[in-house]
Amino acid sequence: MSTHRSSSIDHQSPALGPRPSALDPRISHAPPRTSHPAPRSSLLALIGNTPLLRLTGFEAEIGPGVEIYAKAEWHNPGGSVKDRAAWRMIADGERSGALQPGGTILDATSGNTGIAYAMLGAALGYRVRLCVPANVTPERLRMLRAYGAEVVLTDPMDGSDGAIREARRLHDADPSLFYPDQYNNAANWRAHYETTAPEIWAQTGGRVTHLVAGLGTSGTFVGTARRLRELNPAIALISVQPDSALHGVEGLKHMASSIVPGIYDAAIADDDLRISTEEAHELTRRLAARHGLLAGVSSGAALAAVLRVAARARDAVIVTVFPDGGARYLSDRFWEDDL
Ligand code: PMP
Repeated sequence: MSTHRSSSIDHQSPALGPRPSALDPRISHAPPRTSHPAPRSSLLALIGNTPLLRLTGFEAEIGPGVEIYAKAEWHNPGGSVKDRAAWRMIADGERSGALQPGGTILDATSGNTGIAYAMLGAALGYRVRLCVPANVTPERLRMLRAYGAEVVLTDPMDGSDGAIREARRLHDADPSLFYPDQYNNAANWRAHYETTAPEIWAQTGGRVTHLVAGLGTSGTFVGTARRLRELNPAIALISVQPDSALHGVEGLKHMASSIVPGIYDAAIADDDLRISTEEAHELTRRLAARHGLLAGVSSGAALAAVLRVAARARDAVIVTVFPDGGARYLSDRFWEDDL
């Protein structure tokens, strides 16, 4: 049987024509030429264009007439929304010459921007030095170091403001370091003006009626809100803050008790909602356990604000931004609480 099969294959092969010899001078043995230059890093093409998730489970609680969507920003290659801003700030530094090939990026970050700088630095050939409050979770610290970043730990009692002061001090001591200063860099909000907002507009077919987003550096809210307001002057723009200075919503700022970011413009918001850490925790746990979405705590805070807006809205298409995934916060004790 097997003899028959192989003989039939042998019998057919001449019908396919003579096989070209490996040494046939009419055939080029050079590697194929590609028409595009090699990208600097394939990671860059993965930033942005994140999925817009429809939260039908939460819509059902509100009743008919309200659609709720969230941008799943953990789909960025560094796992958070901050890839967008970090890449835009680095690209600006390259264009202006402030960041030279092989140079060092310095900044203060509570975590996600640092991860984005560290990832991009490793991919693009820059050194990265980050000032981080010492109460950063062990897995975050490991991640930063895994990407090869140098971490300068600052007093946890001074929070993110202490990290900002240390970054300024290091930059004053060595002005050749590239200090993007995400709190005062227009490239931060512009990243969202140019990417996040047009994506939301396209993904909702221009139907978005409300934007709800948390305030950290405020880049996400300010940039996305500015562009969406140009596209639809009637849109409602709602920012979200923790309700107290001592809160547990990583990534968000209680503006009244913080160094206010230079890029923050409070006048853009039609409303500014305050969320407790407990509400943010509860909704983060509900997202995971009842809806299959393992998101970070600031996503829970954003969702708490969305539900307040939804409860008094009619015929609304509410869009929020879920800045990162929950795997980064698994050592946080709130996961053990009952729902
Ligand atoms: N949530 C998380 C988890 C963050 O890391 C950040 C960034 N600090 C934010 C929300 C707020 O984003 P932005 O800095 O654009 O205001």
